[in-house]
Amino acid sequence: MDYDVDHPVDYWGKDARPLKEKRLFLLDMDGTIYKDDLLFDGTLQLLNYIENIKGKYIFITNNSSKSVTEYIAKLKRLGIKTDKNNFFTSTQATVLFLKNNFPGQKIYCQGTFSMIEELKNAGIDLTTKCNDDVKVVLVGFDTELSFEKLNETCKILSTKEVEFIATNPDLRCPVAYGFVPDCGSIVQMIENATGKRPVFIGKPQPTMITTAMEKFGANINETVVIGDRLYTDIASGINAGIDTVCVLSGETTIKDIKSSDIIPTYTFHSVLDFWRTLEDE
Ligand SMILES: [Mg+2]
Repeated sequence: MDYDVDHPVDYWGKDARPLKEKRLFLLDMDGTIYKDDLLFDGTLQLLNYIENIKGKYIFITNNSSKSVTEYIAKLKRLGIKTDKNNFFTSTQATVLFLKNNFPGQKIYCQGTFSMIEELKNAGIDLTTKCNDDVKVVLVGFDTELSFEKLNETCKILSTKEVEFIATNPDLRCPVAYGFVPDCGSIVQMIENATGKRPVFIGKPQPTMITTAMEKFGANINETVVIGDRLYTDIASGINAGIDTVCVLSGETTIKDIKSSDIIPTYTFHSVLDFWRTLEDE
């Protein structure tokens, strides 16, 4: 694509200058700034730009298999220095949801060891066994999933009157060779067995976006979501009423955008192209 520094445009030729007003950047990670351990070109430049304009970046992720501590370590390995204030995960959003809606109640969790620890540390009364006190069944993206866990979850959902929630609706998670099943697919197995459908907490719900905006005092015009998925990242931004940037470095193709009713405000090949639009004067 030819680049004209005086008239920065997105993939479709749309005037991208309004993006220079943005101060709060809510970034997806998988497929947006990296894939597995490969950091995409343009990520470091983009983060530098945000620091230079005294903006703020927050990584917003639906991935409930990793804790914030693990994300900080992963980004450090990739050369990005962050602290816990740079993150908002679907697990953190789930903690807020549980505290607001089911205070003090016993929660059954089918998730990774790391997710269970994070919920317990946040003060949630958690169990991984089917017992009489359970009021809520919570399912996360469990990369340590076993049939024994599925059995326990189905037993509770089939024999007790409980609420059913899940951290994120993503069907698949990108890895180096392609994709693995994500929380949405795990939930489909459970739904096929029990007929029960959960309420999802993460993107495309606007909760993570609006909470981040409140925390950092940013308004709708100053905030933008950047992600690689229409039905989660872009939909969450639309649901929160803010501008969205779709990058084509992950799941979504141009063909997908053309045939979708979830339309991003701007589209770029990658964070590199997005950064060039912001940086050039
Ligand atoms: Mg992604």
